[in-house]
Amino acid sequence: MRAPLIGISTSELRTPDRVDRDPEAEPPQRELALGLDYPVAVAAGGGLPVVLPPHLDVADELVARLDGLLLSGGHDLDPALYARPPHPDLGPIDPANDRWEMALLRAALERGIPVLAICRGMQLLNVTYGGTLYQDLPSELGTDPELHRQKARGSQVTHDVIVDSGTGLSRLTGSGERPVNSFHHQAVEELGSGLVITARDPEGLVEAVEDPSREFVIGVQWHAESLYARDEQLALFQGLVAAAGSAITR
Ligand code: MN
Repeated sequence: MRAPLIGISTSELRTPDRVDRDPEAEPPQRELALGLDYPVAVAAGGGLPVVLPPHLDVADELVARLDGLLLSGGHDLDPALYARPPHPDLGPIDPANDRWEMALLRAALERGIPVLAICRGMQLLNVTYGGTLYQDLPSELGTDPELHRQKARGSQVTHDVIVDSGTGLSRLTGSGERPVNSFHHQAVEELGSGLVITARDPEGLVEAVEDPSREFVIGVQWHAESLYARDEQLALFQGLVAAAGSAITR
């Protein structure tokens, strides 16, 4: 069987003045950015990764060619999507990007292909199901800014999450306390209708959700792609690819 084709969204756009440029290179323009860990983790899980460029009106067409979707991390979501005014500590937003990724997600749900949603991706999943977000954890909940936005590299784990048994997530990572990395200042507030919470941090903050009515629609707040060297995190990508493979043969 061919390797399942896994599309990876790229919501992060950069302006060229934030990167060192090769003087021989082409002139500056807006650039998309995606951590290399995403496609590497998909490949390590047995999938064939393909990067999906944002801001094109081809979400349905693209998703029709995919066997699975990975929604990557990135900037904050526009709070207008969940009918809240912007908080003063909201980070940069890109509403066109939000619409693009939401179109990808809706198309994937419509076609019934598996979805793994990481960090911003999980927040987008929650909002698409009608949920809301904390826009800035330190100012809204008084959390230590470094607790969920670690200074250490993504390959290092800095806080635990407690995974509920009997969930799709626990079948991949195991249940109970699992160490994860953490790079977020937003989080799920009200849960979207149809989702269940599958992991929380020790203080009760939502760290993972899933749609139990689907074979594989899983969101994690941590950056599993940077932890694929750990078997329990690699299992998320293997699970995505396995579900994508069963979608091929259906
Ligand atoms: Mn966290």
